[in-house]
Parts: sequence; C-alpha cells; structure tokens
Amino acid sequence: MDTKEIERFRQTLHKRREEILNASNHNLEAARELGTDGVSDIADEGSVSYNRMVLVSLSEAEKKRIVEIDDALARIKNGTYGICQSCGEAIGDKRLDVKPEAQNCIKCQNGAEGKR
Ligand SMILES: [Zn+2]
Repeated sequence: MDTKEIERFRQTLHKRREEILNASNHNLEAARELGTDGVSDIADEGSVSYNRMVLVSLSEAEKKRIVEIDDALARIKNGTYGICQSCGEAIGDKRLDVKPEAQNCIKCQNGAEGKR
C-alpha cells in the first residue's frame, strides 16, 4: 500500500472517530466540565487523558469502535496498517474501504466470528 492510500485511510479513520465523538457531544461537554483546560483537539493522539474521559461517557459499542480506530491509527504509525493481525496477509483495499479499522482479513474475520 502506498503512502497516498494510507493517508486516505488515515483521514477516513480520523473522520469516523470525530463522528462518533460528535454524536456524543453532550458527553464531551460533561467531560469538559470535569476540568480539561488546554485540550481542544480531540483527534490529537497526545490528548490521551482527555480521550479516556470521553470514552467513559460513550456506549460500549461506541467505545469498541473508537478503540478499533485508535488501533488502526497506531498501526498506520508503526507501518503495519492493512496487514491482517492473525495471518499476516494483506487485508485488501476493498475491505478497508468498507471498514478502515479492520484488523483482520475477511477470511480470519469470518473464522473469528464463527468461533464466538
Ligand atoms: Zn488473515
């Protein structure tokens, strides 16, 4: 995967992350009231403590989604984005277009869901 593609996925991930966080905007307000001065960029990877506070106020499904997105962003950073975490094969652009935070290729994903 070239850097242009990765950048596109990175932006998609950031956008989705913001969408989830904006959807629980009232929760963000509550988090602010707890005293988080000087932190304005919610997408900033550096504002971990602020993110934690926001996470507390999200639903389980939203939390899971954010964690998956953060994991994907971390993989972009360390250069393993787009590689299946189970078998090490490429996940494939088509799957990443649908689910940019995907950790596994469709084969491993189906296998994992079958076990549950
Ligand atoms: Zn796989």
